[in-house]
Amino acid sequence: MLARDRFPHAVLLAGAHGIGKYTLSLMLARAMNCLQPFKTDDLPDYCGVCSNCLRIAEALDLETRCAEAIEAREAMRDTDKRETRIFVQTHPDVLVVPPDPPQMMIKVDQVRYVINTIHYKPEKGRRRVFIFTDSAFIKEAANALLKILEEPPDYATIFLLARNPGDLLATIRSRCVQFRFTPLPVEEVDKDLAKHRPEWNANQRKLVARLSGGAVGMARSLDLAEYMQSRGDALALLNSATQTGDHSMLFQTTEAYRTGADGKEKTDRLLRALYSLLEDLLAVISGMPELVRNADIAADLKSLAMMVDFQWIMQATQQLGQIQSGMRRNVLRSLSLDAFALSLER
Ligand SMILES: [Zn+2]
Repeated sequence: MLARDRFPHAVLLAGAHGIGKYTLSLMLARAMNCLQPFKTDDLPDYCGVCSNCLRIAEALDLETRCAEAIEAREAMRDTDKRETRIFVQTHPDVLVVPPDPPQMMIKVDQVRYVINTIHYKPEKGRRRVFIFTDSAFIKEAANALLKILEEPPDYATIFLLARNPGDLLATIRSRCVQFRFTPLPVEEVDKDLAKHRPEWNANQRKLVARLSGGAVGMARSLDLAEYMQSRGDALALLNSATQTGDHSMLFQTTEAYRTGADGKEKTDRLLRALYSLLEDLLAVISGMPELVRNADIAADLKSLAMMVDFQWIMQATQQLGQIQSGMRRNVLRSLSLDAFALSLER
């Protein structure tokens, strides 16, 4: 589409976290704005070294850029703080719009800013690019976005990135050209990891490749030591829940999640580990052990699976969902973890 100069004004990139939506949108932004464009296999490519490519690439580390923007806002006076929305802009023609904390939604002022600036002509490049990195829009924001999508200027491209496109209004989706990312096969992720995480051995690569669900960005950035710690705790929690009696081990485990600045992240990791173990248990009791992701602890999973049934796994999954929504409302984490494990007793 770029080669034919027919690139759509609104593109919806859909797929799992870490699958490459943001990476691809910034690659396209560079191909659109590179100062020394050339062709690879007869298709538009970018040099990666001109000032436009370099500046756009600075936005690649989205997490760090967002943290910087949030920190800058925190340092403001209260009145300014309220009026300042979070953006990432490392190049004048490429604006990244992430969800705005603490609600982590895209807000109406963020969309209004796009409306107010989208008609400026490109300053340093050929196309202006707007990237909304999340599909969680406040209702008014979604309605405002709809207005831009109705009549975007010729030189603008809007990317909407969504894990689940169903989160977006149907009227928004219908105005976008939609692309869905399919997960990479485990072997491909494994191969990529051999290059990008050479410190991992074959077994570690295999585990991470399986855990990533085919999302290579997720695989590359996984902190394996952290995952092992969370998974160990998750396993202890499930074991304690299925083997009634002594709960001292359980309370010892959840105690570690009680306080501290990293408490929420730590609990998030624990919940993710719990989900992945429950999925594996489901695979085991369904007689499909080849689907197990945590294959390195197959023996533990097998003995745990003997203690539970389908009903129990469903119940546990539902309870995890409740803990997550409780966390959003700031309900005490460790208490809900205790309650979670106790409620699953057989
Ligand atoms: Zn370039």
